[in-house]
Amino acid sequence: MYDVVISGAGPAGSKCAEVLAKNGFKVALIEKNTNWRKPCGGGVNAEIFNYFPSLKKLNLQKINNVSMFSADYTKLDLNFGNNSENYYVVMDRLILDNFLRKVAVDAGAELFDKSVSFDFITKNKEKIGIKTRTPTGIKDYYGKILIIADGMSSKLATKSGLRGKWKSEDLGLAKCSILEGNNRLKEDSLYVYLRKYKGYGWIFPMGGNRFNIGCGAFGAMNSLGKEYLNYDLHKIYSEFITDPNIKKYIPENKYKKIWSASYPLPNSGVMKKPTYSENLMLIGDAAGFVSPISGEGITPSVVSGNVAAETAIEAFENDNISSLILKKFKINPHIKKIIQNFKLKKRLSEIFYNGQNLKKIFELAEKVVDFKNQIIKMLLFNITPQSNFFSLLNNF
Ligand SMILES: Cc1cc2nc3c(=O)[nH]c(=O)nc-3n(C[C@H](O)[C@H](O)[C@H](O)COP(=O)(O)OP(=O)(O)OC[C@H]3O[C@@H](n4cnc5c(N)ncnc54)[C@H](O)[C@@H]3O)c2cc1C
Repeated sequence: MYDVVISGAGPAGSKCAEVLAKNGFKVALIEKNTNWRKPCGGGVNAEIFNYFPSLKKLNLQKINNVSMFSADYTKLDLNFGNNSENYYVVMDRLILDNFLRKVAVDAGAELFDKSVSFDFITKNKEKIGIKTRTPTGIKDYYGKILIIADGMSSKLATKSGLRGKWKSEDLGLAKCSILEGNNRLKEDSLYVYLRKYKGYGWIFPMGGNRFNIGCGAFGAMNSLGKEYLNYDLHKIYSEFITDPNIKKYIPENKYKKIWSASYPLPNSGVMKKPTYSENLMLIGDAAGFVSPISGEGITPSVVSGNVAAETAIEAFENDNISSLILKKFKINPHIKKIIQNFKLKKRLSEIFYNGQNLKKIFELAEKVVDFKNQIIKMLLFNITPQSNFFSLLNNF
C-alpha cells in the first residue's frame, strides 16, 4: 500500500512525487513510457529553477529576448534585461522529463515505467487505487491519496468524475519539430508569431544548430470549422515553416529532422469545477494548467504538482485525506495567482488574436516603455499588469 499513487511522470507528476518522497511518504509514480518525447516547444520560464535548482547544473543558454510578430509580421522586440530573474531556457522535453523523473526517484519515489493507468480500483464506491497495463499483465497500485497527472488526454481525469471530456472550443492543437542545420537565429532569443487565425507559431533555438519549430491553432473550429482542427494542422505547419518571413531565419532548403509530432493542449485555463474529490486530485494539463495565449504549461504544471504534494502532506498530518482538506489546493496563493492570470489572458486573447488590434498594441508598446514592460511580464512571466495597462489598451 502506497501513501500516494501518481499517474503520469511529466513535470507535474514528478514534482509532486519528489516533494512527497522527500517528506518520507511512500510514492508510486506510474509512467506510460519514459522514452516518449512530449510534443512541446520546450520553452521554460526560469521560475522552474526555484522548483528544480539542480537543473542549473545543465548550464542552459539564458534567453532574455523575444521577437514577437503580429500576423502581418510587424515585429516587436522585447528584452528582459541581462540581470533580470525573468528569463527563459529551451529544453528538449525528453531530457527535461527524464531529469525531473530522476530527481523524484533520487528523493525516494518508486517509478514504474511502461505502465499505462487505465482505471481506478474501487471498494464500496471509494477509489482505493489505480489499475495499470504493463508488458507482463495488469498491475494494481493501492494508495491512500491518488493524483492524476497524466496530461491532456488523461482517461482517469474523466473517469474520476471531476471533469468531462474537453469541449472542442477548450482545446488547441499544435505540431512541432526539432530540426538541425544552419540558421540565422539568435541563441538568446525566442521567436513567437501570432497568426491570422487564432493561434501562434514559434522558433526556439536549442543550441548546436538545433531549433524547435512549430505552430498551433486554438478553438480554430469557431471561425474555420471543425475540419480545420482535425485535418489541416499539417497544412498550417508547412505554410508556416515555408513562409518567406520565417525562411529569413532558417534559409536552408532542407533541415535534418530529429523529431516531429502533434498534440492537443487545453486552452481555457484551469478547470472551473473542483480539481479534487475524496482522496483524489487532478494536476497539470489534466486540470488545465496551461496559459491561454502563450500555451505555456511546464512551469504552471510544476507549481500545481508542488502545491498538490503540500496539500496531501497537510491532509496526512491532519489524519484527514478527504476533500475537506484537499480543497485547500485551489485556494493556495500560488494556484490562485495562476488561475487569476489565466482568466485575464483568456479575456485578452480575444483582443490579441485579432490582427488589427495586435498591430496597434505593438505600435503602442514601441511608444510607451511601461506598457511594453507590462506586456512582457504578463505574457511571458504570468505577472498581472497594473490598472493603467487596461486604460492604455482601452484607449487605442
Ligand atoms: C505542441 C505543444 C507545444 C508546447 N510548448 C510549450 C512550451 O514551449 N512551453 C511550455 O511551458 N509549455 C508548452 N506546452 C504545454 C506543456 O507541454 C504542458 O503544459 C506540460 O507538459 C504539462 O505537464 P504535465 O506533467 O501536466 O503533463 P505531460 O507533460 O503531458 O505529462 C504527462 C505524463 O503522463 C504520462 N501518461 C499519459 N497517459 C498515461 C497513462 N494512461 N498512464 C501512465 N502515464 C501516462 C505521459 O507519458 C507523460 O509523461 C506545449 C504543448 C504542446 C502540445
